[in-house]
Amino acid sequence: MSDTAPLFDRVAFIGIGLIGSSLARALTEYGIARQVVCADRSKDVCVKAMELGIVDMATTEVEVALDGADLVVLATPVGSFAEVGERIGPHLAPGTIVTDVGSVKQAVLRDIGPNLPDGVHLVPGHPVAGTEHSGPENGFASLFQGRWCILTPPTGADPQAVEKVVEMWRRVGSNVEIMEASHHDRVLAITSHLPHLIAYTIVGTASDLEEDTKSEVIKFSAGGFRDFTRIAASDPVMWRDVFLNNREAVLEILQRFTEDLTALQRAIRWGEGQQLQDTFTKTRAIRRGIIDAKQA
Ligand code: NAP
Repeated sequence: MSDTAPLFDRVAFIGIGLIGSSLARALTEYGIARQVVCADRSKDVCVKAMELGIVDMATTEVEVALDGADLVVLATPVGSFAEVGERIGPHLAPGTIVTDVGSVKQAVLRDIGPNLPDGVHLVPGHPVAGTEHSGPENGFASLFQGRWCILTPPTGADPQAVEKVVEMWRRVGSNVEIMEASHHDRVLAITSHLPHLIAYTIVGTASDLEEDTKSEVIKFSAGGFRDFTRIAASDPVMWRDVFLNNREAVLEILQRFTEDLTALQRAIRWGEGQQLQDTFTKTRAIRRGIIDAKQA
């Protein structure tokens, strides 16, 4: 197969929001799929996806979208995966590859795996890329350029199916890493899930303050608060599902975080400036590392 030949004949997306529509756009734009179709439960979203020219066909009927698909991409919130798995299972032909873009990965093996017939290959994935916006109108093909995509194929996964999914993500511009689903969920609990929880908490606390203080919060938000509000504007359903489906890892990391926060609280109380300075110096170096790795 030449490097530029399409990898797939027909790719079917289940859910065509921010991430689904971004990948759909990239698959068409970069010639990775001959045909891209989608099923979304919302008729309005289907109409929008067609109007924007993101897909060749959009339907609310899952089985219509799946007909003839050699790759199926699940791009709905993680909490819908069990129901989506049950609906797609009976319509998948042997040889079909099923992947997803969900932000947690053990739940995919649990909720999708048992619904797939023999001969259907499951290769779960998570593009570590996104924005605080939702819906197909906010997607764009270059979203995955220079970002990481983590794949978590289960033990015994078909190597050719895995390779095709790896190649797809490389062609949309991502770096690919393969790891165990449980490891993914622990790593993302600290790098993504906890920061979102903190942002939701800080912005929630600010909005609970007295009305006059609230207007001051908005006025002087450049003092750090503004960056939290961007993260705290992320999709409420998606993030509800992330926390409910990565409960253990998030609670474990939250416990460690609470201990570290208490240590800083103590340092402030006792005037231990050196400890504060040492901590902030260490974190500044981490920020520089992220910039050097072009992930800022
Ligand atoms: P989104 O923009 O809200 O899109 C999700 C779409 O799925 C919506 O059109 C939604 O329809 C539809 N949907 C929901 N439940 C469905 C069901 N049961 N059957 C069919 N369609 C259904 O969300 P997104 O940000 O693209 O997130 C999609 C997935 O990507 C999630 O699993 C998320 O964890 C993952 N992810 C997100 C980001 C990010 O930054 N946003 C980054 C990496 C991975 P309605 O509008 O009717 O609800």
